[in-house]
Amino acid sequence: MQIIDRIYIDGAFVTPHGSEMFDLFNPATEQVIGRVRLADAQDARDAIAAAKRAFPAFSRTSPRERIDMLKRLHEAVVAKEDQLYEAITEEYGAPVSRGRWMARHASAVLLEAAKVLQDYAFTRRAGSAEVVMQPLGVAGLITPWNSDAGFICGKLAAALAAGCTAVIKPSEMSAIQTRIVSEALHEAGLPAGVFNIVTGRGDTVGAEISSHPDVAKLSFTGSTAVGKTILRAAADTLKRVTLELGGKSPVIVLDDADFDNAVPLAIQAGFMNSGQACIAGTRILVPRQRLAEFETRAREEVARSQSGDPRDPQTTVGPMVSQKQWERVQRYIRIGIDEGARLIAGGEGRPDGVEAGWFVRPTVFSDVTNDMTIAREEIFGPVLSIIGYGDIDEAVTIANDTSYGLQAYVLSRDTQRAHEVASLIEAGRVLVNTLAHEPAAPFGGFKQSGIGREYGTFGLEAFLEPKSVLGVF
Ligand code: NAD
Repeated sequence: MQIIDRIYIDGAFVTPHGSEMFDLFNPATEQVIGRVRLADAQDARDAIAAAKRAFPAFSRTSPRERIDMLKRLHEAVVAKEDQLYEAITEEYGAPVSRGRWMARHASAVLLEAAKVLQDYAFTRRAGSAEVVMQPLGVAGLITPWNSDAGFICGKLAAALAAGCTAVIKPSEMSAIQTRIVSEALHEAGLPAGVFNIVTGRGDTVGAEISSHPDVAKLSFTGSTAVGKTILRAAADTLKRVTLELGGKSPVIVLDDADFDNAVPLAIQAGFMNSGQACIAGTRILVPRQRLAEFETRAREEVARSQSGDPRDPQTTVGPMVSQKQWERVQRYIRIGIDEGARLIAGGEGRPDGVEAGWFVRPTVFSDVTNDMTIAREEIFGPVLSIIGYGDIDEAVTIANDTSYGLQAYVLSRDTQRAHEVASLIEAGRVLVNTLAHEPAAPFGGFKQSGIGREYGTFGLEAFLEPKSVLGVF
């Protein structure tokens, strides 16, 4: 049983002013494995004040110095990779390969930001003027539980690369992972106050950060509903806001697709991160004339997936993070059945032989129409919808008929044709015959999937403001 009773403010681990204790669970066993003392609004204000004090000196550091700091942070997180992996497995329940990837990703994003910084021109010319890209100030970074360390390090990397100081509010449900990341980042020995980590509730710590006049920039990853609340809270002080929100991503299977590759890829796109991924491909669009064949293959593929103990290397789908999340997914499966969709795999309840843990049966519905609730709302679990289409125009119309626009997938033997379809899709990223991530490319959503972009040069510029200096040089 871990007791976490420290937050990180002004370069030191300190006892929070907040006194509420919050239980931490192992989602594979439903056992309480720890308790965290939550920060409150006063702690958030203290963290903001520390970041504000650190900003003038930090904003004047050279890119070279910041590259060096990012490299030190990277090495410090690499040194804790095994510990982080253990925490990810225990507190989040990610299956082995996913957990390993997540632990590595947390350090990789720091190095990627250093690379971006290396090639970035902070000063350029526009006509007779000199344009200087200037750091915004104190950045509030608010992150979710579905990739705790990756989001903390990714947002922090971009903020620091730009010369901003930061106050991070991670999810209260990931405090064990956050503790390890915080200890690692502290080891890198950055100046006090440059980053601060306050684990607390969204409606206290998160709300304080979102509205505080000394916070110039907000970068949030989480649900669309909370994203809208944050945008409203930020309006009074006109903060710059980056929102990475939900998704209902289409997987467009073209009529020439090779099902040996396309079906496993589509199922993996849907079940990635145990379905708890904003970029999960949850609407699979299949040409009607190949629907029966696709269903048969999909059933076989799902039978090969295993939902259970995250430490078993055969497991592909881990538990839902919480009982609340498990119940939410169960509710959506019932809604799918009630609205007339046809189950071709999975269904309600736990997988066979599993007695405890927030495990869901990997579930696929067919005969789904795009107006059904399961095709419109983000479920955030391993529940996929197959939707039939006639021609490509109809496929594109269905793909774009959503309030979201984070990611899309196009699967085809003909890459030229796939790219033509990709050009018609309203989404921040379209992946053609791949699930690979590209850290240099911008990431973010169209429509209600968000505002702004992360990663690469676009991600760096989200923490910068152009200033034009005119006159004779
Ligand atoms: P959430 O929106 O409930 O919480 C995210 C963070 O916001 C948490 O730290 C939470 O404490 C905080 N928060 C809650 N209320 C707040 C408020 N009023 N003011 C300020 N902060 C507040 O999301 P979650 O349940 O932690 O994560 C799941 C959601 O995140 C899904 O909808 C998913 O699609 C989304 N997500 C998006 C991306 C992306 O990059 N687009 C990535 C991962 C997850």
